Amino acid sequence: MSSKELFNLEGKVALVTGASSGLGSHFAETLSNAGAKIILAARRTEELKKIQSNLSQESFVIELDVNDKDSVLDLLKEVQILEKKIDILVNNAGISDPKKFKEMSEESWLRIIETNLNGAFRVAKYVADSMINSKTKGSIINIASILGLRVGLNLTSYASAKAALIQLTKSMALELARSDIRVNALAPGYILTDINKDFFSTKEGKGYIKNIPMQRLGLKRELDGALLLLSSDASSFMTGSTLVVDGGHLVNPL
Ligand code: NDP
Repeated sequence: MSSKELFNLEGKVALVTGASSGLGSHFAETLSNAGAKIILAARRTEELKKIQSNLSQESFVIELDVNDKDSVLDLLKEVQILEKKIDILVNNAGISDPKKFKEMSEESWLRIIETNLNGAFRVAKYVADSMINSKTKGSIINIASILGLRVGLNLTSYASAKAALIQLTKSMALELARSDIRVNALAPGYILTDINKDFFSTKEGKGYIKNIPMQRLGLKRELDGALLLLSSDASSFMTGSTLVVDGGHLVNPL
């Protein structure tokens, strides 16, 4: 098989959650350019429609709130009505609320856990059920973070949710291997996006960048290789892995 065929996603349908901005919208474009049909999902459907207009393949916009079980089940019903089957899930929707542990309210903790862990579980669970029912050979990619593997200041709830997401990935991989469903996590380091670019241009932000061995932030397109690997048959013997793309951040010296 040629390398082009290995990463080809023609004939596949990919659901990308949190596709209305940042990494999610970029992931949708990358998978579309590799030939997949895309289901763009998030709460802000107007933003999704703007992203949809840039996609090269057939695509669909479906409203989704990962915190609401009925919203996840309604999305799957809509996919069925469209006569599509999800082959690839990019479980990307996520939020953060940086707070010192001592100043963090219980509400803030619960909000982060609800979206980043419970929401990711909800989508992965019901999409996996639909893959099993339709006997689809699937790939689920949970978007974790290097903060799921190490800790950082003011990110207790976020780091805890992403660590649990990595364990969820491994547990699902173990059980679902026999159903031909692969489950892997992608753990990006600090990637430049619209919402963090102001912070990383401050003195404090530049201080963070100094801790990255490559001395720079990652670019969205630098996640493409890992994303396409996990989405395609190029990773047909990979499941339960956490792929780190971080400019060496996790190996900075103690
Ligand atoms: P953004 O804030 O740009 O995007 C977050 C996306 O999640 C939005 O599209 C938002 O859509 C969606 N979302 C949030 N809450 C919900 C919800 N309840 N239901 C459905 N969708 C929701 O952040 P990023 O692109 O930076 O982050 C994307 C993912 O990548 C997150 O999981 C994040 O933790 C992870 N990550 C990001 C890194 C970075 O450096 N940027 C590094 C490591 C990991 P809407 O508001 O329309 O619902």
